Amino acid sequence: MSTGASVAVSSPSPPCAKCGMQVPTTFVTFHQNIGMLVMRQTAHVSGYLCRRCATAYFKEYTLTTLLAGWWGMISFFVTPCYLINNLWELRKAQRLPVPPVLPVSPEMPVNIPFGERSQPIDAGSRKSKLINGAVIFSVVVGVGLVTTFVEKHRVAALTGCLMMASCTQSESLRTGALYSVSSETGAFGIAKILVLEPGVVHVKIYKQTFPTRPKSIDPASLTLGDMGDPDGFSIEHLPLARQVFLSWDPVFISRQNVSDAELEGYKMWKEARGGVFSVDPRPIIKSNVPRR
Ligand SMILES: [Zn+2]
Repeated sequence: MSTGASVAVSSPSPPCAKCGMQVPTTFVTFHQNIGMLVMRQTAHVSGYLCRRCATAYFKEYTLTTLLAGWWGMISFFVTPCYLINNLWELRKAQRLPVPPVLPVSPEMPVNIPFGERSQPIDAGSRKSKLINGAVIFSVVVGVGLVTTFVEKHRVAALTGCLMMASCTQSESLRTGALYSVSSETGAFGIAKILVLEPGVVHVKIYKQTFPTRPKSIDPASLTLGDMGDPDGFSIEHLPLARQVFLSWDPVFISRQNVSDAELEGYKMWKEARGGVFSVDPRPIIKSNVPRR
């Protein structure tokens, strides 16, 4: 079941470590750097990948590095090396034939991260999401630094309150559960818990909003839009510090299954050793995603 990118099965062409398809693959390594002035966060992925999956990783890691990689002494010098490496690895992948269009044959192992999506991987919407993601990273890093230096004690007091709240409410969080959550506009949204980890809540946020807190909801009526969708903010996967999620006043509605497809974003986050939002990312995301 691993989506691990370090899978090597048999030569000459092991199946793609990401999508599991038995198509020509090549061994590639992509690096990502996020510069945070005094710190840096790096991630890499390596394994036998098909052309489509390698291209997807290239875009994700390279765009993030391109936008958020430069901020810092070491980062400034590491970033061009990573970019050159990623371009070099992409060239290797581009020598492979284009794999057939997903979804793949039904006897294929279930691990089909992108196959559930209706659009091919190169579609503009995914690309724009990646760019948005990179912008969010930069903004959150900036916001994090400002709060650290300017509002240190205020943040500490707030965190204390929220931690107390998390102690009293922690039992109520359940994987797969739908919650009504409050937003800064006074409306209510719906969030689903995909995964619970110590101190971290991985949620999906639907685009539907309600003027009053809904008591029940038909899960089939819930949908995701684009991040810049004027209808409402939605996102497939958002890793939140537990206290941030609890600050949204979540109220349990009902419990659902969590499908493999829903865990795709979480798996990618895990592989990339992604970060966790310790401030409410919604206003930042909203104000930084271009409207269409
Ligand atoms: Zn693949």
